[in-house]
Parts: sequence; C-alpha cells; structure tokens
Amino acid sequence: MEKYVYSFTQGQADGDRSQRELLGGKGANLAEMASIGLPVPSGFTLTTEVCKAFYQHQRNYPEGVDGQVNAALKSLEQQMGKGFGDPLNPLLLSVRSGAPASMPGMMDTVLNLGLNDQTVQGLINRSKDPRFAYDSYRRFIQMYANVVKGVDGDIFEELLEGKKRIRGVEYDNQLSVEELQQLVGEFKDSYQRELGSVFPDDPQQQLWEAISAVFGSWMNQRAVTYRKLNNIPSHWGTAVNVQAMVFGNMGEDCATGVAFTRDPSTGENYFYGEYLVNAQGEDVVAGIRTPQPLNKVKYKQGDLPAMADVMPECYAQLLDNRSTLERHFHEMQDIEFTIESGKLYMLQTRTGKRTAQAAIRIAVEMVDEGLINEQEAVLRVQPQQLEQLLHPSIDPAAQKNIIGKGLPASPGACSGKVVFNADEAEQRNRLKEKVILVRIETSPEDIHGMNAAQGILTSRGGMTSHAAVVARGMGKSCVAGCGDLHIDYEKQVMVTKSGFTIKRGDIITLDGGSGEVILGDVPKVQPAVSGDFGRLMTWADQFRTLQVRANADTPHDAQVAREFGAEGIGLCRTEHMFFDVKRIQAVREMIVSEDQQGRKRALEKIMPMQKNDFIGLFREMKGLPVTIRLLDPPLHEFLPQNDDDIADLAAVAGIRFSEVKEHVQELHEFNPMLGHRGCRLGLTYPEIYDMQVSAIMEAACELVKNEHFDIVPEIMIPLVADVNELKVLRENVLHIAERVMNRYGVKVDYQIGTMIELPRAALLADIIAREADFFSFGTNDLTQTTYGLSRDDAGRFLPYYVEKGLFTGDPFVKLDRAGVGQLVKMGTEKGRQTRPDLKVGICGEHGGEPSSVEFCHQVGLNYVSCSPYRVPIARLAASHAALGHEQIGD
Ligand code: PEP
Ligand code: MG
Repeated sequence: MEKYVYSFTQGQADGDRSQRELLGGKGANLAEMASIGLPVPSGFTLTTEVCKAFYQHQRNYPEGVDGQVNAALKSLEQQMGKGFGDPLNPLLLSVRSGAPASMPGMMDTVLNLGLNDQTVQGLINRSKDPRFAYDSYRRFIQMYANVVKGVDGDIFEELLEGKKRIRGVEYDNQLSVEELQQLVGEFKDSYQRELGSVFPDDPQQQLWEAISAVFGSWMNQRAVTYRKLNNIPSHWGTAVNVQAMVFGNMGEDCATGVAFTRDPSTGENYFYGEYLVNAQGEDVVAGIRTPQPLNKVKYKQGDLPAMADVMPECYAQLLDNRSTLERHFHEMQDIEFTIESGKLYMLQTRTGKRTAQAAIRIAVEMVDEGLINEQEAVLRVQPQQLEQLLHPSIDPAAQKNIIGKGLPASPGACSGKVVFNADEAEQRNRLKEKVILVRIETSPEDIHGMNAAQGILTSRGGMTSHAAVVARGMGKSCVAGCGDLHIDYEKQVMVTKSGFTIKRGDIITLDGGSGEVILGDVPKVQPAVSGDFGRLMTWADQFRTLQVRANADTPHDAQVAREFGAEGIGLCRTEHMFFDVKRIQAVREMIVSEDQQGRKRALEKIMPMQKNDFIGLFREMKGLPVTIRLLDPPLHEFLPQNDDDIADLAAVAGIRFSEVKEHVQELHEFNPMLGHRGCRLGLTYPEIYDMQVSAIMEAACELVKNEHFDIVPEIMIPLVADVNELKVLRENVLHIAERVMNRYGVKVDYQIGTMIELPRAALLADIIAREADFFSFGTNDLTQTTYGLSRDDAGRFLPYYVEKGLFTGDPFVKLDRAGVGQLVKMGTEKGRQTRPDLKVGICGEHGGEPSSVEFCHQVGLNYVSCSPYRVPIARLAASHAALGHEQIGD
C-alpha cells in the first residue's frame, strides 16, 4: 500500500528534505531537522498525495490513510508518554499546512487540538497551571470554530476584548483563571449559536475535521490567488503536519519566537529575531504584544529585555542550532521556535526571504565562509531581484497617499512637479526644477521632455508603449496606462477617480516598480551597488555563453551600458537622434520637401550632426560592436501637429503654410505601425539611408584613420518582409560604404544585417539570410504582428486577458515561447542553414527579461540586447540559463 504518512521524532525521520514535493516544505524540513538531531516536537506528515486524492474523491480519503494516521498517532503517544484524549494525561496536537512552495499565511492551522472539558482537567493536573490550561482551551475553540467551521473570528475577539475591558487590563495574559474559564463557556455558546451544534468534544472527530479543513484550505480564495500570482501549480497540493504541541504559554519560563539566521534586510551575518515570553506562536506574528529582540547587538526595541539576557541558556542553544542549520542547509534560514519550561524546540525552518541587497551579500559571504561555491552563489540571486538595486526606491517606512495605480513600466521612484507637455518639462528642467511629465500617451516628439523629467506618467498605453520603452531605455521611472487618472490638457489638470484634482505644478511621486502614483514628495532610498554586487556579477559572467549588449542611442546611454557590463550596442535607434531640438526643423524640412533635391539639401544639414553622434558612440564603446539601425518610424511622427509649429516650419522651409499643412495631412496613415516605415521608407526615399550610411562610415573611417580605432560597424535594416527589399538596400549600403572608404583611403570592416520583426521574415529566414550578415529579432514588432496586437493599444484589454487566465502574462513583457518564440527558433535555424556563422541576437524589450533571456540561450542566440539598466539582469539571467537553472516560463 502507498505510504501516506511519514513520522518524525528527534534523531529519526521517515522522510528528508529532498522530498519537498511529497512532504511539503515544512514537512520535509521538519524531517530533516529531526534526523540531524535538532529538538523537533514529534509528529507526522500526511503527504501531498493524500491532498490530491482528497480532491479527486470529492473530499474523501483514499483507503489506508486512517489506518496509517492511527498507527502514527499511537507511536506519537508512546514517544510523548501521553494519550490523545486521555483525561489524566492528555496529548495535544497542532495541525498545520505545508505546501511544496512557501505560501506564508495563506492556508490554515489549528493548535491545542484534543482539548475538551475532561482533558482540560488532565492538563491542569499535569501542568499545575489552570491559567495556561484555560488559555489553551479558549484559543483552541476559537481557532477550531474559525478555521474548521468558518465562524467569523471577530465574534470571539469581541468577547475577549469585552472581558479585558471589564477587568481594565490591556493584555490577554492579565486575565484571571476564572475569566478565562468563563470565556471558554462563552466561546462554546457562540459556537453553538453560530452553527446550531455543540462544540465537538471527541478528539478523533476534532483531528479528522481539522485535517480536512487544512487540506480544504488549499482551495480557499486566498491560496488560489496567491498561487496564481506566484505561478504555483494548483495540482501540487499541500501536505498536513500533525505534531505534539509544545507550549510557549505555560508561564514565565516559556516563550515563542521567530528568527532569521542572517539579517534579511542587509544580509549581514547577524542573528536577527523576535520573541515573546508566555505566548503561543501566532501571538508574535499577530502583533498582540510588542515582541522583544533576541539580542541587543543591533536592533534595540525600547527597553524590552532581550532573550540573550532573560533566557541565556536557551539563547545559547538557539545560536548553536542557527549555525547547525546554516552549515547543514548552506542557506540563510527563517526559523520558528518555542520554549516550554526552559526547553527549546524547533518548530520550523525554511529558506528566508530577503531583499536583493541581502541576497547578494549573503551569497558572497557564504562563498568566503566556504559554505557554498561561486556557482551556487550566482544561483542564489534571482535576476529580477537586481532591479531593486539599480534604481532609487520608496522608503519602505514612508507614509503614502496613493492617488492611482498603473502599470509598473520602468522601475525606480521619483518625485517632481506635474507638467503636461514636453517643452515645459524642458524649460523647468533648465531652471533646475524637478518635474514629472504627465501625458495621456507619449510620442517621439516628447523625447526631450521625457529626458528632462524625473519620470513619466501616462494614462494610456501598455508595457511596450512608447513611454515605457523610452523610459526604460533612459533608466527613468515610468508608470504607464494609469486609467485611474483623467488627464485634461486644456485645463492642465488631472483628476483622480474620487474626484480629487491635481494641478500643473503640484508635486507627485511615481513608484515605477509598483505602478503607484502618490501625492506629494515621498522619501526615497538610493541604490547602493556595493563591492559584493560586482564580485557576484564577475562570477556570473564566467558561466554564461550568451553575450549581453545594450540598446543605446547616445554616448551617455553607451557609457551607462558599459558601466553595467554591456559587451556592445545591439540597437541604436537613429530616429531618437532626429528629435533633438537642434535638428528637428531640418528633419521636418526634409519631409515636406517637394522633391529629392529638396530632401538632399535638408539631409546635408543633418549629416554632420549624425556623424558626430556615431563618433561619440564608437568612442564610448572602444571597439566593442555597435549595431546601428537605419531610420524606422513613419515620417509623420516627426511632423508638427499644431498650427503654430506648422507655421514655424513653413517659414524655415520657405513653403506656404497651407502646403505644409496639406503635406502633414497627406502623410497621415490609418495604421502607421503597418505603414510607410522601416525599409519601406529606405526604399522610397533612398537619400535618407544614404545619408545615414555615409555618416556611419565617415565616423568609422575617421576614427580608424586618425585614432587607429578597431571598429566593425553593424548596419541594420528594419522591418524587412522580403529578401528583395534587403537585396536592394544592401547594394545601396555597399555602394555608399565603398565610396566613403575610397574617399578616406582606409578599409573598415562592416556588416549589413536585418531585423527580423515580421512573421514573414522569420518564415523565410533562409532566403533572407542570403543577404544578411546578422539577424536581430525585433520581438516588440514580432509580438505585435504575430498576435495582431497593437503594442500601443493593448493596455486597454491585456490586463483583462491576464486576469482571466486567457494569457499567462503580457507577451510584450515575457516572450511568448509557444508562438513568437517558435518564430525566433525557426528563424535562427533557417538563417543558419544558409549561413552557419550567422550572428543572431534579439533587441526587443524581452532582451532584459529573465525568462526570455533563458529562451534565447536555449535556442542558441549569440546575444541579447536590452536597455542599459537591465544589463546586469540579463547577465545574471544568461548565467542562470547556462547553469541550467530554470526561470518560470510558460
Ligand atoms: C522591436 O520591434 O522589437 C524593436 C527593437 O524595434 P522598435 O521597438 O524600435 O520597433
Ligand atoms: Mg521594431
């Protein structure tokens, strides 16, 4: 028969820590602690298999479970020298949940089980402490009624509060025996009133109902939601742990507490914890009394005495157990303990949750202490956690008046005055004012304002909307698609859902990590990239095979990227250079020109600036590869929309106002993302790409000739759907490049590649590869076109899809492996069939998202390219992928 029940007692256990899936995290670690000789109260675990069967059989148990529980209970009685339900010497039990993945506080627990009017007398006789016995009894009735029978816990809390009020005392432990005894009676009456049946006094019935309630709590709403948020599969089930009770509430030589073997906030190797004298486990967490510190080395809590001073022997044992556990698990532990009459028991140990800063420090120091090796250290820090370290964040202790919540589009916290247009953002920035740029949505015309602002808030748009992408690229915080706020450009105000108005100039704070918009200036904490962080990243780099580049458009971006360890630029979006205030007029002039001659004249004005851009980038990257993408967006994005700007342009270009206006209208497209953009623009207005290629090649030739740089520019053509497009453009590039090199009399190695961002290009990648030296997957557009889902508008309904489970996540954030990923894989394979040495990378936003990076490693890409601030995340994710450590994908 299948083994459903696993017993443990100090020095011996049926299971061990490797059986997490079967015994749950708590059960597996209790077994492990017991077998290494730590003082664990004896007990047994009903496996997760029982839970699965319980749900498969309409909440009934498979055959044999009751027999195994009875046998385990018998030996527990023998070990403890007590009887379950024995009126003279009763054994009391705790019944707790314990899933394979930690789900703190989501499921149910019942303590002090086995009490009734007879056994409580036995407890009094044995303990000689009627106060303790009745305190345990009233706790049991309340927990049982609440957890097992679903009675509202407030009913009991009110009765308890009433007693304290009448007596004029503050704490539970100040009530007299008689009062506690009365409470037991009142609790039972309430139970009967609420449920129409008397409180069960049969311990067997209590036990089975409690076990069923704990298994049942696997499906409660809290647990279901928590699993969904944390990607925990519901078919795992929970285990149930039944243990002999030990009592922290039996007098002044009893206590209960929780501790972390190292400081979970900073990672310092410091024993951090809290405890309460004369209390039961849940009191510490519930905040019924202010807990006391374990020691007073670091965190003093008023004048409360520390455990090290009050119970020095137990504290010394606890310290011993702390190092035993760390040496055994090689990991920082979060432990629970109870002291009964001066004897210490360990109730739980598990891997402790920690901040990113703590995770790094602990991993690095454990390598120095010889507890783990470098590879394990690298795997101890989750790539996504690094995000916390790379931007300022809201002080966790700060008060917050939240006025709206949008998408956490680009992390970091910032505060500033609300402004509603980019020009004002720039003007105020010049006056050293801090501003937040608030827009319904942003467009490339807002770039200068975004650059000048501390952060960006939009009321529309998703995680890959213009605002989100650009903000991440700039390392600025951004809350996107905050539908809670109604923005009125005309009145220069935004109005919250509750009708509160925020005016231009009012100060707000954005938390780009949570999506919160907060009124006023909220205190922040600055990122500290410590020495440990650098060491860990160096170790990570040893293991990875995937290269990490950055998407960078300016020398400043390039510098940040290099500081974060980028090994090249994977995408320079040249259009961002066109929006500079000094050149936008020339760009506009080019667009509204009647003929090619006019366009060429305007382009000649831009050319020297564009060349300087590239010189700056090449210099900053010091010979590392730089991929420059030729102009991509539809031209109308550059054009003025209001009459004043149109008039300015008409004056500069020497054209009539009406003509310019007409031109702007002509360029309007119903579906610009699928319109006249990318290589289509390069083909129909060849002089634009010619100018850009000349600028790239002249920049490279000058640096090679005059400064002996070693540069291999990578020229990239966007939005290719057919090989013929690439063929023509490639020939143009070759022609211009040769001409420039001849002029300079130098030879520069350069490459011509293409973005693969349309499904057709991926499907025909073998043919396209004939004309490409490299591929770079533009997974933003590839996701958009594969799903037929607008990246700028999806924010309106995507949250619904995710909430309803139609999509597992936002495909613009985490690469859709099944669909878009298939195209990436196929495109790579087909491309390499034609050209085995084809260099393949990805430069969509997914390049900085850990699960997507893992996928890129698995399908054999050469590099990922992401915004500079995500480079460390991608480096660590690539390292995890190479070490075979799985990210949660779909
Ligand atoms: C892409 O489409 O993934 C890409 C990198 O290009 P852009 O975001 O500029 O369209
Ligand atoms: Mg694109």
